[in-house]
Parts: sequence; structure tokens; C-alpha cells
Amino acid sequence: MDRFLNFSESLKLSREATFESESGKNMIDDIYTDLLPNNGVIKKVNLPRTTIVTGRKGTGKSTIFQKSISDKTKDRKAIPVYVDTKTVYGNSTPSIHLDEYDIIPDKEIVKYFVYTNFMKSLIDSIRETVYLKLNQNRIVKLLGLNDEKFEDIKLKLDEIKDNIDDVFKRIDLSLVQTIKEHTEQANKSSKNIAVDLSNKPKLTAGAQSNHDTVVKKEFNNILFSYLDIKNSLIENLLKIKEIIKIKYIFVYLDDFSELDLYAQELIIDNFVAPLNNYSKDFVKFKIAAYPKRFYYGELDNQKIDEISLDFFDAYYTYDLSSSKMYDIARMENLALDYTCRLIENRRKVFFPDDGFYKFFTLAPKTLHQLLFEVSLNIPRKLGYILSFCYLSCVINNKKISKKDIENASIKYYDTIISRFFTHNPFLKRPFEDKVSIENQKTLLIKIIERQVENRKSILKSNEPIFNVPKKPASHFIVNEKLAYLLDNLELNNYLTIYNKIKDTTGAFTHLYALDYGMCKKNNIPFGRPKDGKHGKYYKHSRFNFSRVIMDHFNTTQILKCNNGHEFPYSFYEDIEVFDFNCPKCLKNHEFVKCEVTVHNQEILDRINELEQENLHELSFAEFLVLDSFSTMSPLALSSYAVAEYVNKTESSVKLLINKLIDKSLIVIDEEISKGLDKDHYKITKKAMKYVEKINTILGKKKANSQVLYK
Ligand SMILES: [Zn+2]
Repeated sequence: MDRFLNFSESLKLSREATFESESGKNMIDDIYTDLLPNNGVIKKVNLPRTTIVTGRKGTGKSTIFQKSISDKTKDRKAIPVYVDTKTVYGNSTPSIHLDEYDIIPDKEIVKYFVYTNFMKSLIDSIRETVYLKLNQNRIVKLLGLNDEKFEDIKLKLDEIKDNIDDVFKRIDLSLVQTIKEHTEQANKSSKNIAVDLSNKPKLTAGAQSNHDTVVKKEFNNILFSYLDIKNSLIENLLKIKEIIKIKYIFVYLDDFSELDLYAQELIIDNFVAPLNNYSKDFVKFKIAAYPKRFYYGELDNQKIDEISLDFFDAYYTYDLSSSKMYDIARMENLALDYTCRLIENRRKVFFPDDGFYKFFTLAPKTLHQLLFEVSLNIPRKLGYILSFCYLSCVINNKKISKKDIENASIKYYDTIISRFFTHNPFLKRPFEDKVSIENQKTLLIKIIERQVENRKSILKSNEPIFNVPKKPASHFIVNEKLAYLLDNLELNNYLTIYNKIKDTTGAFTHLYALDYGMCKKNNIPFGRPKDGKHGKYYKHSRFNFSRVIMDHFNTTQILKCNNGHEFPYSFYEDIEVFDFNCPKCLKNHEFVKCEVTVHNQEILDRINELEQENLHELSFAEFLVLDSFSTMSPLALSSYAVAEYVNKTESSVKLLINKLIDKSLIVIDEEISKGLDKDHYKITKKAMKYVEKINTILGKKKANSQVLYK
């Protein structure tokens, strides 16, 4: 029983945790399971190149680092140095007392002193680890390090420490000086316009952000003039390289995406990139990051490798490199194979005398398939789900059934995914993400509602494509150009990119899978029909969600102030109480009015652009179909009615309708379809306007259009 718990817990482990058996032996080599066949991932990570390993939380980045460190320790060609970036950053505080220098430490100013101390601590911890590792290895004398050479290295390392201490002391003091001068100036000028300021809150906002920009600019200048990584660090490292036989230092920066954008810029541009580019191949970095939350900056693309651990990216790249052809079924097999190996490798360690499968009512093969579907290859998620099963079944001497695993996946959705997203002030978002969390939650609800509707109509439908067991509705497609709007939901595990496929118009789309537990909770069966006949199941226009997303952003209203604070429309009455002054700005004693607005203009512009593109690429046949909808509007039409109207076969019209849905120009009218038990469609406003415009240009009158088309 305890073994089952150890088994599950070992899947949950994250950074710094070491996999130790009861006898204290490091088990990493036994339980490490590579995502790709033939150890494709670890082989690449072990190469003497700088590598970015990207993957969502729990995809096993830290485990890969541990395996690599274990390998490198054995082959002795490199000194592995592990840095837990998150902790080093979290422990960073200003290294000087600001009040001693008469500086009122406002948040913005403190930030820069935190940054400088963080950089210093990072370099320090690397230097220290190198020293410790060499000191250990000296005893073994495998490196050919005699006392004399070791003393020499120690001297060089001390020199690095002195240099770095000195550099950062100068940076801090220079920063103090700049901030003092700047504050004095600002005080002088603010006295002059103080009267104006109180009347025009917008000006205060401007002055504040201007102040911030100036401080940031000065900080960058100071760094640029004082931080000479080449002389203070690289030169000494190269001298060390000459003394020892070791060829590389591998620096593993774990959890790098926990840093904000600016901290990443600092570290990459001022430290990682120079070392990577100028250390004559001595220092190589291994960086663990979340997708879309990594700053590349001055890292030379030619000199770095990138490995993605996320479901689709990993297998897509692998498959393309191995066969030049891409196939969704083969990808699913590879992914399923990973889940099997993951379970099997751990089973051999924790249940050497077998007995693992006795805890389940399911046969191993069925179990593996189910565990793949609930986890989509995220080991930590699998660990949580098995731990939940341990609590609900194993300790009660009850065997784990399919239902129990499904319930565990619902619990995972409720307690981990959902809670994390809604109540977490430290939520890590993609850098490009401009949509508020509240807004994304609303979008998610719309996606689920739409799938629930789809499920209902599929159950009733007699279309052959829907004639499959279970009739799942867990996947959907979205035009590639809109996919970035789902990045945050994906990063936080509500969705997973399952594939990239072309829709009926030939446009690229992302096929997404919703979280298994979230589907279960909403009575949506999970799965993708696998037989050839139904391979295009999710290509059906019902599952094209581009329109859902466009409509969401086109119509969702929000309250927004000039400083960029956003509130959901439901807060209208609360904010009215403050006479529409932004509550967040009020906290900073600023009066800034909130206005009702549609969402981010930039997003709307991009959506508009895509719609225009789709309209301009219409074929004549598609135009005729649109025209019939426009003529009959606001009536919803079935494919049969349109076929009559344009005098074509119903099957050819169905194909055209699918294309028009994929282009987001017509939509399914859910209400009418439900009432009449047959899919009915209607034209979108934008398409309607377009058809009218074309008809005006052509000088056609509605009355004779029918004649013309025949
Ligand atoms: Zn505000």
C-alpha cells in the first residue's frame, strides 16, 4: 500500500527533490523515462550546446535536468551546476539599506536593487558550486588536479568573487546617486505644476510612468557602463579552463519562467548570452521555461537548441525529423507508448515483485490508455490523479476502477487547475498575453457551453460522421491566427494543443483537447474516433470554434481605466458607486475614470483583418451560397433549402457551407436547428454587409438575382 503512495508521489516531484530510495540510492537512472523513443530528449540535453527546455508545469523539466546532471557527473567531461532560479530570485532583497541614503524606497525603485542583487547571487551561486564540485573531484584526482593547480583555480574563483562584488557595489551606488538626482529634479518640477496636477489626474499618471521609464533607462545605462562580464568573469573562467581537463561547465537554470520579463531580459542579455557567445564553448546553459514565457534576446539562435515537452510540439518535431511525414494516429501511439513506459519503469522500481496492477480493476492496456487520456503526458498530473485514487480506494482496500480515475480527474480539475487559475496572484502568464483572467474565464465557459450543445445535437444527428460510439465532444479546432488568444488557457492546462490540421478551406487550425476532468464534470465524453472513416470527426464545422472566439472578443464589454486596469462588466454597479473612478488607481490616490469599452483594440483589429481575408478569398460558388443567405435573411436555412435556391446538389452545398463556417462567415443557428431537428444556418453581419456591397457594385437587384444565378 505504501509502495503505491510512493509510486504516485514520485510522479509529483518537482524541482530540487531528489529521487532517493529508502536505502538512499539515487534512483533517477532507474525511473527516468524519456518522452521520445531512443532517449531522444536526454541525448539532446546532454549535448554541449545551450538548450532551452520548454514545457508546461509538471511536464518533467526538472526530472530531465536531474537525469542530465547524473549523466554528466558520471562522464566527467562537464561540471554540472544546478541553479534553482525561482528560489534565488525569491530570496533577493536589496543588498544596501536605502534609507541610509535618504531614499524613500518606493516599489519601483526597490525593484532595481532587487534585480542587481539577484544577478549577483546568481553568479555567486554558480561560482560557489563550481568550487564545491572541483573540491570534491580533487580528492578523486581524476581531473589531474594536484594541490597546486587547485590553489590556482581557487585564486581565480576568488578573483571572480572580488570582481563581481566590486562591480555590483558600484552599480548599486551609482543607482542610488541617479535616483536621488532624479527625485530632486522631479520634486522641483512637480512644485511648479502642482496646481494643475490635482485637477488632471491623467497628468499624474503620465508623470509617474515617465518617472518609471527614466529610472529604467538610467538603470540600463548604469549596467551597461559598469557590468563588464567579459573582464570580471569570462576571462577568469577561461583561465580555469586552461588549468583543468574538463571541457564544459553546464549551468542548469531551472524554473526560469518564474522570473518576470524584465528579470529575464537582464539575465539573458547581460549574463547568459555573453557567456554563451564568448566563453569559447566553455559554459553551456540548460534553461527550463514555460512555453511563450521565455525571453530570447541576444541569444544567438544558431547556437541554441530548443526542446518542447508539450504533447503536440514534442511529437510533431520528432515525427517530422524521423519520417518527413506527419500522422495524428502515429503521434497518439508515441504518446501512449510514453505513458506505458512511464508507468512500467516506475512499476519495476516500486513493485519489483509485481503487484502494481492488482490495485486496479482495469487490464493494463485499458489502464494505460485511460491514464494517457487523463494526463495527456503530464507526469505530475498523473501523480496527483493516482494519489487521489490512493486516498479514495487503496487505503479503503478497494480496487481502482475507471470511474474512480475519472472522479480523481475531476478532483484534479477542481482543486489544481481551476483554483490555481482563479485565486493565484502569482499566476504566470504568457508574456504576450493581453487578456484579463476574468475575460478568459468567460471565454472558457462559452467553449464548454458550446461543446455541451454540440454533444446534444450529435446525439440526435444522423450524419454518418457522427455515427461512432460514445460520441465525444472533447476536442475543437480554431484558426491558427486566433490561437494565440488561447495561449493562457493552454499554459494553465485547461486545454492542450493536440494537433495542427487544415480545415475544409485549407487554412491551418489548432486542434485542442479540453482537460479530461473538466469534460467529465460537464458530461462531455472524452476522445477522438480513431478508425479511418471517422478520422475527420473534429473537422466537422460543429467543432470549428473560430467564430465563438471572434464573437467573444467582438462583443465582450469591459470597464477600463486610462492606466490599463480592467474590470469585468459585471462590476459596473460597484464602480458606479465610486462615480466611475478606477478603484485600483484610487489606492494610489489617483482619480482616473473607467469607461465601458470592447476588449483590447489590437485583438479586434487582428480579428477584423482575418475576417476581411476570408471574405476576399471567396470562390464564386461560396459567394452564391452567401448571397442566398443574405437574400433570405433573417431566416435560417438548411443545406437542403440552399441547394434548392442555388440549384445544386445538397451534398455539394454542404461542403460549401462547411467551408463558409470554417471561414467564420456563416454560423449554425442552434435554436432553430434544435427545434427542427436539422442543422440550420445563418449569415454573419460582416458577411451580410459584404454581399450587399458586392451586389451594389454589380448593380444587381435582389429581384432578378435568382434568374441570374440559374
Ligand atoms: Zn486604474
